[in-house]
Amino acid sequence: MLGPLVLLAAAAASPTNLLLVTIDTLRADRVGAYGFAPSPTPSLDRLAREGVLLEEAVAHVPQTRPSHVTLFTGRLPYEHGIRDNFSKPLDAATPTLTTLLKARGYATGGFIGAYPVSRDSGLQRGFDVYDDPFAAASSVSTRGDRSERRAGEVVDRALEWLRRPRTAPFFAWVHLFDPHAPYDPPPPFAARFAKDLYAGEVAYADSQVQRLLEWIDTAGLRDSTLVVVTSDHGEGLGDHGEDEHGFFVYDTTLHVPLVMRRPGHLKAGTRVGGQFRGVDLLPTLLELLGAPASPTSGTSRAAALLAATRLPDNQAYVESLYASLHFGCAPLRALRAEGWKYIEAPRPELYRLTEDPGEKRNRMDDRASLAAAMRTALLARDRGTVAPSLPSADSAAAERLAALGYVGTGFFSGTPPGTDPKDKIAEIQSFNREVTRGVRLFEGGDYEGAARQLAPLTASTPLPGGKVLEHRSFNVDYFLGRSLLELRRFADAVAPLARAVDLDPHSIPAYVFLSRAQAGAGRGEQALATVESGLQRAPRNAELHQMKGRLLLGRGDVAAARASL
Ligand SMILES: [Zn+2]
Repeated sequence: MLGPLVLLAAAAASPTNLLLVTIDTLRADRVGAYGFAPSPTPSLDRLAREGVLLEEAVAHVPQTRPSHVTLFTGRLPYEHGIRDNFSKPLDAATPTLTTLLKARGYATGGFIGAYPVSRDSGLQRGFDVYDDPFAAASSVSTRGDRSERRAGEVVDRALEWLRRPRTAPFFAWVHLFDPHAPYDPPPPFAARFAKDLYAGEVAYADSQVQRLLEWIDTAGLRDSTLVVVTSDHGEGLGDHGEDEHGFFVYDTTLHVPLVMRRPGHLKAGTRVGGQFRGVDLLPTLLELLGAPASPTSGTSRAAALLAATRLPDNQAYVESLYASLHFGCAPLRALRAEGWKYIEAPRPELYRLTEDPGEKRNRMDDRASLAAAMRTALLARDRGTVAPSLPSADSAAAERLAALGYVGTGFFSGTPPGTDPKDKIAEIQSFNREVTRGVRLFEGGDYEGAARQLAPLTASTPLPGGKVLEHRSFNVDYFLGRSLLELRRFADAVAPLARAVDLDPHSIPAYVFLSRAQAGAGRGEQALATVESGLQRAPRNAELHQMKGRLLLGRGDVAAARASL
């Protein structure tokens, strides 16, 4: 009779460690435990066999920063305000999983794989150690900073920290970015998955999870550690015409894997059906860890997980403002509930997910009243907050995001406002592919190739009916100008870099490069004016002051130059 009570007392006496792994851009149906064969994910499959698998875990937004902030706060994007990778950091008042566990005495360590969840996201709050080589806001410079790093390096850093002796329980967050484009798995995964490089990245990330699981076993912490692996969003992989993620709100980019293991508590080999939302993760983890609840917009599903019962019906709000903020399209919002999804768009969509998981057959015509009811429920949420202005990127953020393939980055105009993203995806995506190709050539040091690739993208695209679509993208002009600068074609570099400054007056590196082009072209006075404009934005920027000093020196103004240098 005393058995369960003794067990409970033991559980209360020794707090549970938490290892949370988010594998970025991991689409649920590409995981072996979710049916993909041959499985690229033996570690996740093992966790599923030894713990609980949530069959229908959904993200609320298919973008890294907003989705991670939702996982950490249990709040929807329109509540926490982080709706884009460019959004300002999460406000300091909102409790997060980290701050709540820190307050419980946990040792906390965050180890991240890419810029969107850097300190610029605000997610570092509450972490004793935040291993983040990416944050842009503090160091605006023209030096090529990294935007992502491989899982192996992230796990190395995490293991270094985990191995430290400690008496307190730990919370470690490990963010592995590899499955995000570009798909370039390291050996031996590149060869093994030559025909499916995305799966190769997934397999590589999974192999790094294996290292964490091995350490837990070796350290004897298997029974005292709750291990959770999930993702922030999926990947289009060409479905619905979407290569990557961010434009649409289909399940390809919203259905994510979620597995949890806590031996002796969560029954091994359990598969739990029913919708589990991103906002439910924080309250569920707190309850599983025996920590007090904190107000969120989610619901703890701990009881259902422990009892291995199906989750009750619930509604998930979903949004994507990416095409709206960056490409002038209409915002997308959706409600996912009871096996249906309604998408609010200029041409609305309704799908029966249980019969049509690929969301291929729009049921708007034959289920009009259901669609109307779901629309009413959807529009009752998020009143008046659907189209926030794009946060300014007054940092090197644009460049870092461009390196990750987010080439729109807010400085693209020309699409008639309010166009349905479905009608623009092909055009925007082909433009994106071309820009990304140019940026990659630049990054690879092929400046001739980059200039050849990017130059035509600054031109207008003729449309049927004699209309012209004016594509203007910061990254086209910025990387074209920088390529020409590298080729020492200074006079040619001036125009694109001047357009880049015009498109994003917050990008300090753009002022630096433009002034170099102008100086190189013998236009010293213009260069000086550019430097002065940059200094108005960033009065203490070292590179601008250096440039100013050099220009004044060139003019023979030694005293002023000395003051500036
Ligand atoms: Zn992501």
